[in-house]
Amino acid sequence: MPIDHKAAYDEQNIFAKILRGEIPNKTVLETDHSLAFHDINPLAPIHVLVIPKGRYVSMEDFSANASDAEIADLVRTIGKVAAETGADAQGYRILANTGKRAGQEVPHLHVHVFGGQPLGPMLSR
Ligand code: AMP
Repeated sequence: MPIDHKAAYDEQNIFAKILRGEIPNKTVLETDHSLAFHDINPLAPIHVLVIPKGRYVSMEDFSANASDAEIADLVRTIGKVAAETGADAQGYRILANTGKRAGQEVPHLHVHVFGGQPLGPMLSR
């Protein structure tokens, strides 16, 4: 069920549980401020999620309220994931669904990194 990206942070969301170590994840890389892990239901040969460790519901929340260090770290982590997974070699896509209309299901900001195959048009009409 897509979520309201303007709602308060839900401590019980699945990515909060991953960050607390309550459920496992397949980590790609971890920094002081960010965690990158394989999507449990990959939609491409490379499908990694990059999340901030801080409590941010959405890109809107993160861009307004995160520190410069957290923002820089997330962006650099996305770049490192693309390089280290091999996605960068052939081209890749990053995507952050924000709110109900975009189909955001987990109320903790996550940036999808897709690669490893031709990715087709950005949106289908
Ligand atoms: P979104 O629709 O943008 O909110 O994407 C949520 C993503 O989280 C989906 O691609 C799910 O497959 C993924 N996901 C949900 N639970 C887990 C989990 N425990 N570990 C890794 N990925 C997950």
